[in-house]
Amino acid sequence: MHELSVCMELIDQVEAIARSHDAERVDTIVLRIGSLSGVEPGLLESAFEMARLGTVAEHARLRTERIEPRIRCRACGLEAEAGPSDLRCPACFGTDTALITGDEMILARVELLQAAD
Ligand SMILES: [Zn+2]
Repeated sequence: MHELSVCMELIDQVEAIARSHDAERVDTIVLRIGSLSGVEPGLLESAFEMARLGTVAEHARLRTERIEPRIRCRACGLEAEAGPSDLRCPACFGTDTALITGDEMILARVELLQAAD
């Protein structure tokens, strides 16, 4: 399951952040998921439930935000939102377009709880 290995990597990253801030545990993780990233938010959330057990993120909430694909046209220079299966330029219908966002997964925010001292 692709989402489980994505989650393991995510938790590695989160644990490193928590360690470097001396946090007791992780409260909230906010992920931004491109709709072309191949990651299914629902599957990711259930994989996260498993992957977090026994880690510093065991009680963390996972919030996901979706990033819609955007393209830039190399022919006419237009930047626009693109459909999920159509990356052509909406102005000149050129196919020479570059994906600006939409295929990435970004760890947007990690909220930590500090140990009380
Ligand atoms: Zn164009």
